[in-house]
Amino acid sequence: MVAYLSTRGGAGVRGFEDVLLAGLAEDGGLFVPLGWPRLSRTDLDALKGASYAETAFVVLGPWMAETLGADAFDRMLREAYAGFGHPAVAPLRQIGDDDWLLELFHGPTLAFKDFALQLLGRIFEAVLARRRERITIVGATSGDTGSAAIAACAGRQSMRIAILHPHERVSEVQRRQMTTVTSPNVANIAIRGTFDDCQALVKAMFNDRAFRDEQRLAAINSINWVRIVAQAVYYVWAALRLGGLDRPLSFAVPTGNFGDVYAGYVAHKMGLPLRRLVVATNRNDILARFLDTGVYRVGRVEPTISPSMDIQVASNFERLLFDLEGREPDRLRQRMGELARDGRIEVTSAQLAEARRLFTAAAIDEETTRLTMRTVLESTGELVDPHTAVGIAACRRFGDGRDAARVVLATAHPAKFPAAVHAATGRRPELPPHLAGLYEREERFAVLPNDLHAVQTHLRERAWTQ
Ligand SMILES: *Cc1c(COP(=O)(O)O)cnc(C)c1O
Repeated sequence: MVAYLSTRGGAGVRGFEDVLLAGLAEDGGLFVPLGWPRLSRTDLDALKGASYAETAFVVLGPWMAETLGADAFDRMLREAYAGFGHPAVAPLRQIGDDDWLLELFHGPTLAFKDFALQLLGRIFEAVLARRRERITIVGATSGDTGSAAIAACAGRQSMRIAILHPHERVSEVQRRQMTTVTSPNVANIAIRGTFDDCQALVKAMFNDRAFRDEQRLAAINSINWVRIVAQAVYYVWAALRLGGLDRPLSFAVPTGNFGDVYAGYVAHKMGLPLRRLVVATNRNDILARFLDTGVYRVGRVEPTISPSMDIQVASNFERLLFDLEGREPDRLRQRMGELARDGRIEVTSAQLAEARRLFTAAAIDEETTRLTMRTVLESTGELVDPHTAVGIAACRRFGDGRDAARVVLATAHPAKFPAAVHAATGRRPELPPHLAGLYEREERFAVLPNDLHAVQTHLRERAWTQ
């Protein structure tokens, strides 16, 4: 079994269930494995022709099959990916001689977050049922995470889920994907305020110790280790399909919190050969600036047409920094102290060179994003969403010649961002069949003031069962 420690060294050595349920370590650090389980070339070769769930079983097995029980884990994987709207689960689509899109938007809520959360909901349920525990998951969302988390938890016995979103500040598709889920264990709360206000309320609920214990609060946010490893699977899956064991691929990854692209790093650490990981950002370019200069400096968040990447503090970056600091918690803690004090970190040239061995980055502006949506439509007939367009534009900055295929992660379905897609291309993307009635379905949500007491009272008094 894999054991874990906190990047900041203050949480001892921990097992899978702690890492699953805690999310963040109690010293404020992120959990990382003590060592990397390796997949041999023989293991990988044996996966050629395997289904997505079979591939996931082999890639994720060393992390969790023992705790969950091999048969139960196998069943969870099959169920998690059976609900995807494409038989391949993560189909590849060719968009150029050596360029491919890996479509990660066929899950129930049309963004890649379903890959991890559909599995995580099932793992939580199994572990909590065995421990006879019940939890209340609370989270704030500016769009995609909330709907994916709700879809993963709705109707489950051991979990309630409450998601706060800023009232009238998420797109209608995003809101309806959350509020039309009317299971009694789901609470949607629209806060009269901004996304930052919602986040502050969630944080305040966790900091209210009595409330936290009474409600048994838990989180499934993007720093959860199990979410990250679940995303490593599709890198292996794509490589197996494109001959990537013999001719290592490059992946371009639309990036916000550095979770998805870090999952590619995990796949590499487990033995997958890779040529390059392209960190594709919009004009919130902290990671691109870091890979350019070695300086990680927090700026102001600028709104863009790829809102799920409008992030300045890329939480999972701490995990890469931990490795760059030689996996020494004392050194990492010092770095994070510098970041808190000065708002910046500067790594050595040797550390920067180490990061650049695998990672490279490009920041894409709004006009280029729109232009990319148009040119992709003209040359392939495909509509792509703005996040995917950022990935395609970044990928095209790096000419790999003809020796290596390049894969762009298509992180969202174009119908999730209809206004931006229509403005750029003149075409309106259609919702896939399972969401066709979205605009007619009944919505259920509470509108509350930006007030901690009001939210806590709502959660305490709410009827969670029918
Ligand atoms: C969440 C999200 C991203 C960013 O992923 P990170 O793991 O935070 O880097 C990119 N695109 C879409 C559509 C998303 O929902």
